Amino acid sequence: MIVVMTPGCSQADVDHVVKLVNEMGLKDHVIVGTDRTVVAAIGDKRNVDKSAIENAPNVDKIVPILAPYKVASKEVKREPSAIALLGPGTEVGAGHVGMIGGPCSVEDRSQLLEVAHAVKEAGAIGLRGGAFKPRTNPYSFQGLGEEGLEILAEAREATGLAVVTEIMSIDQVDLVCKYADVLQVGTRNMHNFNLLVAVGKANKPVMLKRGWSATLEEFLLAAEYIISAGNPNVILCERGIRTHEEYVRNTLPLAIIPAIKRESHLPIVIDPSQGTGHAYMVPSMCLAAIAAGADGLLVEVHQDPEHALTDGAQSITPEVFAKMVVDCKKISDALNA
Ligand code: PEP
Ligand code: MN
Repeated sequence: MIVVMTPGCSQADVDHVVKLVNEMGLKDHVIVGTDRTVVAAIGDKRNVDKSAIENAPNVDKIVPILAPYKVASKEVKREPSAIALLGPGTEVGAGHVGMIGGPCSVEDRSQLLEVAHAVKEAGAIGLRGGAFKPRTNPYSFQGLGEEGLEILAEAREATGLAVVTEIMSIDQVDLVCKYADVLQVGTRNMHNFNLLVAVGKANKPVMLKRGWSATLEEFLLAAEYIISAGNPNVILCERGIRTHEEYVRNTLPLAIIPAIKRESHLPIVIDPSQGTGHAYMVPSMCLAAIAAGADGLLVEVHQDPEHALTDGAQSITPEVFAKMVVDCKKISDALNA
């Protein structure tokens, strides 16, 4: 349920409601909106005495949250959330559109630094690159591990870009947090609820990819796991779903953008690289995503896609990335004109 406070209530009033909510065995999430503060009370409501809260000073009303996800829901927070990848100027959401580019995998130092400088030059705010790679084939390149994380951190120092990199298991949380700015939870791990809780306890934003066969509701419930564990900074990422189609690696459902915006306050970023599997499709899907209201793009960029160790077929060159960023800006400007 949501406890809606009256406009202009004091901090003491909010603290009092939080105390009552906690005494009833419920978890509180205080959300300070532009005109109102609300306290979302989440948990088992069997032993809850609503009237005690209703009669507390400066409580306006109590409303049930109808969606199965609560703190991820728009019912709890109407205004869209802006989430900074790495401090001011690196936000996505609430009108901020952020570009994140970089290779599928960190391959070596010179490869990563060259791409990092190129995507920075093109206007990106984030650098992607996997150090731990979830590969379908156990004999494929598995990533450089900690060495890859060190290279990513060096690229951040050199460019100021926020580092977005995948975390595959709970035992990697401390290590990845030491180097990364944003923890990417991959499509194969969206249902790994123990990992979701573990990144929910970390103090870095999380880029949560949609499971390739997950429904929208399951996707938002996965986000709910992270937020309810204590981390409100969740960025959703659509990366395509499995269908019968074969001309694409995955089918990229851009209709999820308006659907998420209707259901949730969380930002939604699109990954057209995994979403199509083909470099030639990536720029068009980037433009379409921005036109549909995406809060950002996560794009695979490689200086020599033909020789990339992973996902070369869907990686665009720095030149194509730079043109794509300019074209996307034209779309946003036209929409905002
Ligand atoms: C990736 O971003 O390179 C990746 C492995 O993504 P996904 O989890 O969406 O397959
Ligand atoms: Mn990839």
